[in-house]
Amino acid sequence: MRILITGGAGFIGMNLSRKLIQLGYDVYIVDCLHPYYSNERKKVHLQQIRNFGNVHFYRHDLLDPVGTKKLFLDISPHVVIHLAALPGVSYSLEQPLAYIDYDIKATVNVLEAAGTSEVKKVIFASSSSVYGDQPQIPLKEEMANGRLISPYAAAKWSAESFCHVYASFYSFQLTILRFFTVYGPWGRPDMAIAKFIKQIMKGEPISVYGKGSARDYTYVDDIVEGIILAMNHFASETKIYNIGAGHPISMNSLLDHLTGQFGRFRLENKPTRKGDVHSTWADISKAKSELDFSPKVSFEEGLKRTISWAYEYEKYL
Ligand code: NAD
Repeated sequence: MRILITGGAGFIGMNLSRKLIQLGYDVYIVDCLHPYYSNERKKVHLQQIRNFGNVHFYRHDLLDPVGTKKLFLDISPHVVIHLAALPGVSYSLEQPLAYIDYDIKATVNVLEAAGTSEVKKVIFASSSSVYGDQPQIPLKEEMANGRLISPYAAAKWSAESFCHVYASFYSFQLTILRFFTVYGPWGRPDMAIAKFIKQIMKGEPISVYGKGSARDYTYVDDIVEGIILAMNHFASETKIYNIGAGHPISMNSLLDHLTGQFGRFRLENKPTRKGDVHSTWADISKAKSELDFSPKVSFEEGLKRTISWAYEYEKYL
């Protein structure tokens, strides 16, 4: 089976590509190596993927509609896993228009190219941010209501809507996966856990924004497993699933875990940032019952593995 992974040179994409290669799939990566958190780092991701076996890599920007259609016709994938996007809530407040390009326009180009080639299934990487800042948690799939608090969330929500539109035009099956705060080896350096580990290892204080928040931190291997289960799940209509650990970790608990691993470090408390939701917690019962999804890596174990990776690859933090 030919699998095309857009954004395959990114954090989740590299972990997914390595697993799919190990499982014997024919993996095609399309990635423009966007400079958000360094394109050199993405080249290192590609090298890491190649250590696991053969991968077909196309450096291409999905913002080009004609080139994207041509590429899809050349590759003729059975499944498209669309991870490519500009991620990150904070940066979306600085550059909202870039998110219209990379998260919405590029997605429309992918959908159009998938619809006009032989693609059977499109998996779209959405985000817990599409739930906005809701007082009631855990978050169930049907609770998303479009009341959002960051340009990133608005772009993902809009991209989800375009996915529904194109799934109605064309014959591919659509699955939307809403990932909850992903962490692990090769994690994005703009995300809290990676940032905290780097700051502690450098002896700098860590910046904690807002009080009493919690996140459903999900180890990247569990996200990869969720994607693969969704990929192999037969469905005749559009599906939407939360893919998360299903256990919120409070900021205090995260800090306790970090103290357990590193000993004492300094903290800088800062006010809540615009765009940040207070807490996230995935209700994963739908993915459990329909996909047999069951996250395997406890937070303690995931954090240990991430810290071991950080010691081994300190220069990439
Ligand atoms: P990432 O930035 O590491 O990976 C995204 C990749 O997409 C990058 O390699 C980038 O070069 C590529 N890309 C971006 N725009 C492109 C374009 N126009 N053409 C070709 N390639 C392009 O991000 P990630 O953390 O691996 O996230 C992957 C997906 O999962 C994204 O859609 C993100 O919004 C979503 N997501 C991530 C998280 C998380 O916690 N990491 C949570 C929820 C959702």
